[in-house]
Parts: sequence; structure tokens; C-alpha cells
Amino acid sequence: MRLPQLTACPVCHSVLSERVAACPNCETELTPYYEQHEAARALINQAANAVSRGEMIEAKRLLGDAERMLPSPVEAVEELRTVILLQEHRLEDALRAASALPDDCPGKPRLLDDIAAASERVENAKMHFNLALTAARQGSLADAAYHVEKTLSLAPHLPEPWRLAAKIALKREDFAAAQRYLSRGAELFPRDSYLAPLAAEIKQAK
Ligand SMILES: [Zn+2]
Repeated sequence: MRLPQLTACPVCHSVLSERVAACPNCETELTPYYEQHEAARALINQAANAVSRGEMIEAKRLLGDAERMLPSPVEAVEELRTVILLQEHRLEDALRAASALPDDCPGKPRLLDDIAAASERVENAKMHFNLALTAARQGSLADAAYHVEKTLSLAPHLPEPWRLAAKIALKREDFAAAQRYLSRGAELFPRDSYLAPLAAEIKQAK
């Protein structure tokens, strides 16, 4: 990640090859601008730490603060925003953001690779999900259970496979598994209107 540096005078845009108290060209006092960049760098580093802890809301707040200190766009801010989009499984937005990064941004190739890999996982997950659905409809419940488990391992961030996994487990009368899928699913998607009724259904079946 390339952190923002003061490389030109903000007033006359003369290039600054070293740290100087005042612009050699227009004599603008530069210390406040250096301090602003330092503060922005500190915020961006804090944001990067928040991202690695999985605290995306905090990270976004810090990035917003950093960005307000400097003229936009700030490469490191945009790069971290792309990482956040990827973590949030917003793959189309992540791809758009990654593509907009400058080509010489050191993190860009890795980000594009990671986004492509995540997209492939989602595609594979969809394939297994459809196989699970078909197998369940045909009454091949062992097959259905296998494919829905594959789906969950590839894309645990989607609610539909958790619902289907619970339904299949119920059909197999594997109530322990159904309970497990339901509670994990409800944990990941507390506002899902489908998982709670299923939880009631499983209680009745018991
Ligand atoms: Zn100047």
C-alpha cells in the first residue's frame, strides 16, 4: 500500500524533492501540509488494522476521515475500500474499484486475482446449489446433502444455501444437522424471514 506523501507544493505545484519548511518557489509555509499528510497516513494505517480485524464500519469511518484531510482520490484509501468491498462480497463493486486503481498501484494485481478467485468460488457455489436443489427434488437426499455442504463451504455468506441445507437435513430426519444449519444461518442472517419459521418447523418435527 502506497501511503500519501507531500510531493508537490499544494499552492504552486512545484515538485518537492525533500522536506522543506517553505516552498522554494512560492514560499508557502509547508509544515501544516506535512502534518496533514502524517495524520492521514496514521488514519489509513489504523483503517488497515481495522480491516484485518474485520471491523469494516470502523475502517470506513477512518478512511472517510483520512480522505477529508487530503485532496481526493488517495490511492491507499481507494485500495483499502476495494479490500472492504471484497470482504463484503460485493464482487462487482470490488472489480470496478480495483480496475479504477492506477496500473502501477502495487496492490492492484493481487486484488484483481483475489476478486477473480472469489467470483469463481461464487460460481462454483451456485453450481453446487443447483445440483443440491435438483437432487432434493428427485429425492436423492444424500446427494443433495453433499452438494449443499459444498455450497456452504464455498459461499457461507449467502442465506439461501443455509435454508436449503436445513430443509434437506429435515427431509433426512437429521434433526441435529438441521438445528446446526438453522442456528448458524440465523446467526449469520438474523433478519432472514425464512430461518425462524424453519426453526419452528424443526421443533414440531422433534
Ligand atoms: Zn509553492
